[in-house]
Amino acid sequence: MSMTIGVLKESADKRVAITPDNIKRSKLKDVSWWIESGAGNDAGFEDKHYAGLATIKDKGAILAGADILVTIFSPADEDLAGIKEGTLLISQFRSYQDPGIIEKLSKYPIRVISMDMIPRTTLAQSMDVLSSMASIAGYRAVLMAAQKLPRYFPMMITSAGSIRPAKALIIGAGVAGLQAIATARKLGAVVEAFDVRQAAKEEVQSLGAKFVEVPGAADDKGAGGYAVQQTEEFLTRQRAEVQARAAKSDVIICTAQVRGRKAPVLIEADTIPLMRHGSVIIDLAASTGGNCALTQNDKTIVISGITIIGNSSLETEMPEDASQMYGNNVLNLLNHIIKEGVLNLKLDDEIVKGSLIKT
Ligand code: NAD
Repeated sequence: MSMTIGVLKESADKRVAITPDNIKRSKLKDVSWWIESGAGNDAGFEDKHYAGLATIKDKGAILAGADILVTIFSPADEDLAGIKEGTLLISQFRSYQDPGIIEKLSKYPIRVISMDMIPRTTLAQSMDVLSSMASIAGYRAVLMAAQKLPRYFPMMITSAGSIRPAKALIIGAGVAGLQAIATARKLGAVVEAFDVRQAAKEEVQSLGAKFVEVPGAADDKGAGGYAVQQTEEFLTRQRAEVQARAAKSDVIICTAQVRGRKAPVLIEADTIPLMRHGSVIIDLAASTGGNCALTQNDKTIVISGITIIGNSSLETEMPEDASQMYGNNVLNLLNHIIKEGVLNLKLDDEIVKGSLIKT
């Protein structure tokens, strides 16, 4: 009998974990797809679009029958309890932020892969949901800022006068930050960016932005590409540099994060009144505390004429492509762990070892 892969409807997200196009392009042999009715509606994929590719079922049947379950975020507790014994659940649990999740999952007789724990290696690049979602968020952040800004992004020379280009400051030049730089540059802004990793300098410059270097950053090459915690002395110097540049910026996109820790506060409250009236801060680090001291997670506030948007899930604003990309990442993982129609979770495999948070 072929293996069944079930996809549930998300309770609080517009995305769906697997799209019709994902299934069409899937190279997996001998698997059947079960999709919960309505799962793709909010992302623009109706049940009819899955016709001929998957069977539409209700949630109870999928929980009780699927061999592998794929979601974007964890199913609710009562649904976890309904999952068939031995099923592999593939989702995102952010266990690096919430260690209690492992204990919670230990109550259920299932195996769990957390997509956000897949190592950031070259081999696993095609499965990296953190990168695909961060890239969308960086792009959307700039579009949102451009829309809120009461000024142009590009330089304009018109018969009604000349307009100078907007200045964008990008704090943190990882995946989201680099995409924000590229998007802001395409819209014509003059862009400066901060990061603490030396590797980021060349990437920032190659996108046509200025890299602002604060000497003395700890850059740990053993941290898997992630930044490490900086000393308070370094952060104080960095905040002063940020303040000087923020005062001249029209838009600031905050993306600086240190995995598993609170985000560094790099824009202090007293920087805000120094900024030009109407300027916009989009804080993508909001869910881990924010890079701006005044950020409120999932809220938009206006202080001293400056709009501060705290939003760490802008990828959900683009659910169609975000679903396609998430689904492709999952399929690349499935291709890695399913051989000849059989699930083969090798515990000594680097990708499995990193992401299988419950065996
Ligand atoms: P992230 O979301 O954890 O952090 C965002 C950025 O904030 C990082 O670039 C980080 O260096 C920066 N940052 C942290 N503290 C800062 C501070 N005080 N000031 C300024 N910047 C600060 O990171 P991410 O975007 O998920 O990825 C980070 C890096 O991981 C990538 O740029 C890359 O080097 C590596 N990576 C590798 C792969 C791969 O090889 N498959 C895939 C994705 C990412």
